[in-house]
Amino acid sequence: MSIEDLARANVRALTPYQSARRLGGNGDVWLNANEFPLPVPFELSQQTLNRYPECQPKIVIERYAAYAGLTPEQVIVSRGADEGIELLMRAFCEPGKDAILFCPPTYGMYSVSAETIGIEYRTVAALGDWQLNLPAIAEQLDGVKVVYMCSPNNPTGNLINQDDIRKLLEITAGKALLVADEAYIEFCPEATLAGWLQEYPHLVILRTLSKAFALAGLRCGFTLANKPVIDLLMKVIAPYPLATPVADVAGQALSEQGIALMRQHVAELNANRAWLFEQLPQLSVVQQVFPSETNYILARFTDSPKVFKTLWDQGIILRDQNKNPGLAGCLRISIGTREECERLIAALQALSVE
Ligand SMILES: *Cc1c(COP(=O)(O)O)cnc(C)c1O
Repeated sequence: MSIEDLARANVRALTPYQSARRLGGNGDVWLNANEFPLPVPFELSQQTLNRYPECQPKIVIERYAAYAGLTPEQVIVSRGADEGIELLMRAFCEPGKDAILFCPPTYGMYSVSAETIGIEYRTVAALGDWQLNLPAIAEQLDGVKVVYMCSPNNPTGNLINQDDIRKLLEITAGKALLVADEAYIEFCPEATLAGWLQEYPHLVILRTLSKAFALAGLRCGFTLANKPVIDLLMKVIAPYPLATPVADVAGQALSEQGIALMRQHVAELNANRAWLFEQLPQLSVVQQVFPSETNYILARFTDSPKVFKTLWDQGIILRDQNKNPGLAGCLRISIGTREECERLIAALQALSVE
């Protein structure tokens, strides 16, 4: 038997997540991974590494709970929100029996994690305005244990209507968890569902330090839920999910100064996004610009492969969305510094006069 044949069938068939990093490129303007464009300062204060770290570093949990307006027992920290996505499947879905459900176009890791673990995934396409198709979801819920809903949604940038989320919570009650992926919530903090946790035992919220907190390289994310859900996730999480330096930096990011700095960065990016919203529709290569509550903008172009390639060759790296259902001709643009936004617009202007 070849090594390939020894592997699980679903792993042989798996296409790994096409992360922005894996796709490569030789850019100096990276607008493809929704990262913050500049590094934030930090110091390593914990200088010893001979001991294992705490499984759930107390200061990180306490500070995140305070930041989110919750109690520490409603918070679990993991290696990025991506690990939270997977922990939920491992704790709640029986491989080969249960299913998850999500609504494309949306974040790619829900399907990748399901495929890796061997859990069926069902999709219910979002409506034309990228809102939930509630009747279709209700019909597909048989055997579904976890519903993933991204709001604001990546890559479209829109929020899901709160009335619809309430209805979805009602139709999933007693049957499945509803997981709200709030990776971008700092860009529209009033839209968080954290205040709904006391009302809904099956609501779960995912958060991350990778986007607004400018710490994608740290790999630190949070799952927020009521204690019974957190207790189950604690059973399946690795014994030492966070390295000591990670906990150290995360604690600083969640200090009063760290949060103030994050809010200042969010205000800057929101201003840059508003500027791009004025500029993009004036360009003839741009067909449509979709409203966004996040640090990225989705736009449809007249000849998106040419736009993508021309900018790529100039070192401006965007994220191609052509293969995402319903997003033919679309590119996703992360909001960078003002200078980077200006370089982007200049490059698109040059393409528009051709
Ligand atoms: C970036 C992102 C994540 C992953 O966050 P990490 O904490 O870096 O793993 C999860 N969900 C969505 C929608 C994202 O865009």
